[in-house]
Amino acid sequence: NPATTPATTAASEALFDRARAVTPGGVNSPVRAFTAVGGTPRFITSASGAWLTDADGNDYVDLICSWGPMLLGHAHPDVQAAVAGAVARGTSYGTPTEPEVELAEEIVARTPVERVRFVSSGTEATMSAIRLARGATGRDLVVKFAGCYHGHVDTLLAQAGSGVATLAVPGTSGVPASSAAETLVLPYNDREAVLAAFAAHGTRIACLITEAFPGNMGVVPPAPGFNAFLAETCRAHGALFISDEVMTGFRATEHGGWGLDGAIEGWVPDLMTFGKVMGGGFPAAAFGGRADLMSHLAPEGSVYQAGTLSGNPVATTAGLATLRLATPEVYAQLDATALTIRNAVTEHLQAASVPHTVQSAGTMFSVFFSGEPVRDFAEASQQDTAAYAAFFHSMLDQGVYLPPSAYEAWFVSAAHDERAISTIIDALPAAAVAAAAA
Ligand code: PMP
Repeated sequence: NPATTPATTAASEALFDRARAVTPGGVNSPVRAFTAVGGTPRFITSASGAWLTDADGNDYVDLICSWGPMLLGHAHPDVQAAVAGAVARGTSYGTPTEPEVELAEEIVARTPVERVRFVSSGTEATMSAIRLARGATGRDLVVKFAGCYHGHVDTLLAQAGSGVATLAVPGTSGVPASSAAETLVLPYNDREAVLAAFAAHGTRIACLITEAFPGNMGVVPPAPGFNAFLAETCRAHGALFISDEVMTGFRATEHGGWGLDGAIEGWVPDLMTFGKVMGGGFPAAAFGGRADLMSHLAPEGSVYQAGTLSGNPVATTAGLATLRLATPEVYAQLDATALTIRNAVTEHLQAASVPHTVQSAGTMFSVFFSGEPVRDFAEASQQDTAAYAAFFHSMLDQGVYLPPSAYEAWFVSAAHDERAISTIIDALPAAAVAAAAA
């Protein structure tokens, strides 16, 4: 029984010790540290297709996919070849390049944005979109939802606000109270809260930002019509509607989260942000929107925004190669793979009588260890995180690398073939038993 024979992790442990001596917590992004589930993060040395290999030589089916970007799987040969070609031509020039134009054209073709500006991370994308919204409207307040993550932007880290129109307190130290005071935090999926906030502060609100289909409190889909309602409420008050598609863009569907509602219902966000998949595993992200709004950006307009490595030729080449390979057939396959895994998880957790709820947004999904549907962050927080930790470690011991937190989406890739899927399914019975015992 593989569940009883956890792999050797001596090399990862040694690396983690060295890492902690030179880096806070031993990691360069907090969730990687296994803080929520305990234990030693695996130091990965290589990856191919659906598989990761760690410093001790253990193989894992990857259900993190670099937190979303690796839509085609790791080391896709065509992406590798495109990147190698780009590297051979030099890695950064600080001038405009053709791959930037082609990637922007691809994004404009797939989404409702008319103009795109490239940056290097999702955080920069949302930070810049907020600045643009403030510059374009001449207003300062930002509305966000509890449980939505938009990167580590001062204004957007605020998580908690007591009551509908209460100005938030900082969600982390280091954020000035003045920044947090510019942010209204509302419960997700709560129309009344949105209407009350706009009734109280409507003339001061520059923008409302939301994840198109939230994935950062686990996957919590908008109630039917909720995004359309947000777009309409913003419009009625002269505020801008920013849909953050850093996670869902080119992932949830071919047209991102917007492909699940806006494309069908016929509304368009004023601004959108993208990242992850569009960088093909390199640091690349973007924000975009209506041409008249985007023209407020320097050098056309007065809102300044810039970046030494923005639109980097290697990153944009990787992103372009990835998007060109991400055909409708690929999304259909990802949907089928996600469905197979979701069904298997449900079957085995049910068999072990573990309360759970599986929620999805296109090809993204997550598993809540809670028997009730989850509509907002408060409900997401009701789940049994100890059960998740036990489930996670059992899966890891059996060669499946899940996100090391109960509040994260699971990501599949086009490289998740029958062998990868059966490795996951074979691991589920023991993991379900472990969760039941937690
Ligand atoms: N927005 C969303 C919806 C995200 O999921 C993330 C990252 N997980 C970000 C913004 C921030 O992106 P980055 O980590 O590249 O700064």
